[in-house]
Amino acid sequence: MTRTTTARTARAARLLAVGRTARLLSENGFDLCDLYYRMSSKKGAERFSADRAAGLWEEFLRSRRRPDGALTNVYVNVPFCRTRCSFCGLYTRPGAGQREMRSYAGALIKEIEHFGRAFRGAEADHLYLGGTPSRLDDAAFGDLLEAVFSRFSFTPDGNRILECAPSSMTSAKLRAAAGFGFNKINIGVQTLDEKVLKAVDRPQDRDSVLRLIGEVNSLGLKFGCNADLIMGLYGETAAGFLDSFRAIARSSPQTISVYDLYLIPSYVDRYYGGDHEAAAAALESFRAGTAGPMRKIAAEAGYVLTCRNNSREWIFSRREALKDFSLYTVYTGEFSPAPSSTLGLGAAARSLMYGRYSYLQDAEAMVEFSPGAPMFSGTPVSMEGEMIKFLFVCFRTGVPVPLDYFRKRFGTDLLKKFKGPLAELARLNYVKIADKKVSLTRSGPASLLFCGLCLIGMERFVREALPFFPENIRASFAASAAGRPAKLYPAVNHRNSWPRTGS
Ligand code: SF4
Repeated sequence: MTRTTTARTARAARLLAVGRTARLLSENGFDLCDLYYRMSSKKGAERFSADRAAGLWEEFLRSRRRPDGALTNVYVNVPFCRTRCSFCGLYTRPGAGQREMRSYAGALIKEIEHFGRAFRGAEADHLYLGGTPSRLDDAAFGDLLEAVFSRFSFTPDGNRILECAPSSMTSAKLRAAAGFGFNKINIGVQTLDEKVLKAVDRPQDRDSVLRLIGEVNSLGLKFGCNADLIMGLYGETAAGFLDSFRAIARSSPQTISVYDLYLIPSYVDRYYGGDHEAAAAALESFRAGTAGPMRKIAAEAGYVLTCRNNSREWIFSRREALKDFSLYTVYTGEFSPAPSSTLGLGAAARSLMYGRYSYLQDAEAMVEFSPGAPMFSGTPVSMEGEMIKFLFVCFRTGVPVPLDYFRKRFGTDLLKKFKGPLAELARLNYVKIADKKVSLTRSGPASLLFCGLCLIGMERFVREALPFFPENIRASFAASAAGRPAKLYPAVNHRNSWPRTGS
């Protein structure tokens, strides 16, 4: 065998392993952002206190490393749901009483005040108050909003988004939010089908959701209202889902975001007796029967599909609101395509200082805030990491990457920097390099993950990301890489509390 043939065989074997891994991960609900999150949470992460974190922010905001046009966001998490919806794998503390929530809000306010000092003189761009802040009582809710808006300043055009669960949002809280300066309300609807709501343990009724959307619309907020729906919940029929979608579209929120269901193990155990393949097949057939009609209903109701999201998220914007739409209204945090930093506050919140540091707050609801005690784990982030993340986000959202923009932003040539992987991906017809742009030519999570894994490099994936997957996933990966049949089930709570909490 010649040296060239040996190299080709090795390359083919590597690509086969990449393809198997990508399929395995995508079939189990992992997307590129999960992968990036895994890779940026390296083993040996340093533990540190709020005092140290505030010092890092102060230095970061003063330093010249913040590129021109870079965004700075603030994310605040309130993780208290009334009950845990059976499909949800996010960090939350269901069933907490007002006493526990009040004490959390008190500690969170102290944390806000602490970091507010580091941000003195700096304007933040976007704000996302996420989780279920609407569960706080009126007094705690007002105190929290007062703390956020008195300690941080925001640019006038940024998004200031409040997430809420319909079952706990009140008119008084809505008015208070608008008065403080929120300009968008994100409502976790998921479905309007009351039988399905009951089956997935979600206390909510159709009429109050539609009323809430109407009420938000009447506030005349700049970015209005976004309604989240989930596709393929257990027991939901295609007709039922489309009925929910149609009713939501008629109630006219500025944007509608439809997400694919993440198959978490407890959900698969409960509804499919642990048969992951059956659950995935049911979801696939549901999606096949609904995606087309959903787009048709959206178009008829005056909505435009704003991004072709390869992670199976469909984000529709009202045609007349398109001028205000940007991906930043959807991804205000780490996964925004713009260079951005986010200060995360609250249990399980993630923070990112662009090109410098990424850290995660402990996933326990605080009862008191101790600025000197270790409460974060983090690792440095390189500019190469930022480049990969940027490509991830563009591929994920179907946005072509202009070569000029990449050079201007990162000071390096994209085609040279990722020469090997991009050439390979172009040869296999996964990406197209034309008109001074690089774009993804295939859709679907497996193709997306394949591209992501090629860019990262399998070796790096194995070294950096894989050790942080649970044992069952590592075992499945080893089997898959060796060409043996493998099943893979993601662990619960593999997602952090990022602004996609979905109340
Ligand atoms: S979907 Fe929303 S309301 Fe339900 S458990 Fe998850 S975060 Fe809570």
